[in-house]
Amino acid sequence: MATTSFTKKSLGLVDTAVEPGVTPPQGNPENTFVKKPRLSSSKSRKRDIPEGLWTKCPKCSTMLYDKELDENLKVCMKCGHHFKIGARERINSLVETCSFEEMDAEMESVDALAFTGVASYKDKLESYKKGTGLRDAVITGIGKIQNQRLGLGVMDFSFLGGSMGSVVGEKLTRMIEAATEKNLPVVIISTSGGARMYEGMFSLMQMAKTCGALAYHAKAKLPYISVLTDPTTAGVMASYASVGDLIIAEPAAMIGFAGPRVIKDTTQAELPPGFQTAEFLLDHGLIDAIVPRKEMKERLAYYLDFLMSAKAKEAAA
Ligand SMILES: [Zn+2]
Repeated sequence: MATTSFTKKSLGLVDTAVEPGVTPPQGNPENTFVKKPRLSSSKSRKRDIPEGLWTKCPKCSTMLYDKELDENLKVCMKCGHHFKIGARERINSLVETCSFEEMDAEMESVDALAFTGVASYKDKLESYKKGTGLRDAVITGIGKIQNQRLGLGVMDFSFLGGSMGSVVGEKLTRMIEAATEKNLPVVIISTSGGARMYEGMFSLMQMAKTCGALAYHAKAKLPYISVLTDPTTAGVMASYASVGDLIIAEPAAMIGFAGPRVIKDTTQAELPPGFQTAEFLLDHGLIDAIVPRKEMKERLAYYLDFLMSAKAKEAAA
């Protein structure tokens, strides 16, 4: 019988070796298994994709065509992951065409403390200005969402981590004061790693200054909506970002004051799952709603219309 002649000896195995459950194929150069392309071919496939055309979604790993991703307001078409979006793109996605009048576009930080470190603050500012096309981490102005004019401030994380220095604070304060004077509501869309350390105490003073301007705005019975996007933390979260009449957030945005590791080390306690996400904070009452980016314009228009209706009646009377 053919099968009985298929012994350990015929396979060239020594007696001590364990007999394999499946007979391995003979070394044959024509065998497809042998001819299987090498693993390194994935590298050449990578090389075939022109750089800057595709982005890999960090959540679902889908390769997304940049043009489509931009058209979808930087939201993954497959899983809805919200990528970071620049301040200008965001303003364009919200306001009516040609309605936005930018304020203080030329304002720039000075190196008041002559900060030195691995790189000087001056050099850092220059490289970020070149890299982002922005002058600082916020764009402010007066614009229109549907029929409602408003004061709008939008932060940009790509400029020094959206950190708040004297320019961010001053631009926001001037915008809030202009809105108070013109009887307009305010919307600020935040994304920030916190106060800018290169400006030391000058950065921390912006927390009080922006909140002071917002207090006068509130005294005039005008609404302020704070929109928190990924991430909004530290000095910004501890000031104007958390004092909105309405506080809304984008899905899965990281929101908090100190980072989770610091809190864990300080409290010596396990942090609950989902800690510091928009969803967790909605459950615990810190924020009022989670609004996907693609619905943001309509929802803001709806809220503003509702919050300004009393003012409109007052004006009509
Ligand atoms: Zn995705």
